[in-house]
Formats: sequence, C-alpha cells, structure tokens
Amino acid sequence: MSDCIFCKIVAGQIPASKVYEDSDFLAFRDIAPKADTHLLLIPKRHIVNLNDINAADEALLGRLLLTIPNIAAAEGLAGYRTITNTGVEGGQEVFHMHFHILGGDQLPGF
Ligand code: 5GP
Ligand code: ZN
Repeated sequence: MSDCIFCKIVAGQIPASKVYEDSDFLAFRDIAPKADTHLLLIPKRHIVNLNDINAADEALLGRLLLTIPNIAAAEGLAGYRTITNTGVEGGQEVFHMHFHILGGDQLPGF
C-alpha cells in the first residue's frame, strides 16, 4: 500500500525507532506514547485489521502472538497490555494492523 504510513516504515521510507524485526514482523516505538513503554507490533504485509484476516493467516497470527512476550521481555516488561483497534468505531487511526504493547508503569484496570 503506497499511501500507508506503516508500509513506509517497513520499506524504510520513513524513520522509526525499531525494537524488533524478523522476516514477517516489525516492532517500533509509538510516536506518541501513551505509557512509559509503548510499542507497535505489525505484520510487514499490509493487513488492514482483524476484519481483514482469514484462515490462511492462522500461522502468521500465531507467530505474531508468540513474538509479543519476547519483545516485552527484551524491554524489561514483566507485565503489559496488548491492544489492537479494529475499524473507526474501534478507535483505529492507522489502517495497517498493529498490536499496541503498553507497559513500564502500573496501568489502570480496564
Ligand atoms: P490506532 O489508533 O490506529 O490503534 O493507533 C495508531 C498509533 O500509531 C497511534 O498510537 C499513533 O501514535 C501511532 N503512529 C501514528 N503515526 C505514526 C508514525 O509515523 N510513527 C510511529 N512510530 N507511530 C505512529
Ligand atoms: Zn500498510
């Protein structure tokens, strides 16, 4: 997606503070952090949100979830919150699926 800001980050066309990268995923620091540590984990492939996945993505999504505790541990997070917003009504502003990883201070109950 040529007009997608996260695809541009994947392509190296705009800078980001990367904390993790492999062949399928990239994690970087949110530009406007809502917690002491606020990371975004994305698939490199442009997927809009959870409404855009199907059975063929099962393994990819499993691997995505498995990377989260590793990234959190590398950031020194014992506990953290993981959020993905889906659609305008769900508060999604960037339409390339991403998982927020928030932590580093005590988060309020949800
Ligand atoms: P959403 O509301 O779509 O779930 O979250 C989008 C997130 O992307 C927001 O927390 C916002 O601060 C972050 N964000 C938007 N543009 C950029 C950017 O260019 N670089 C980085 N690192 N984060 C961004
Ligand atoms: Zn994209």
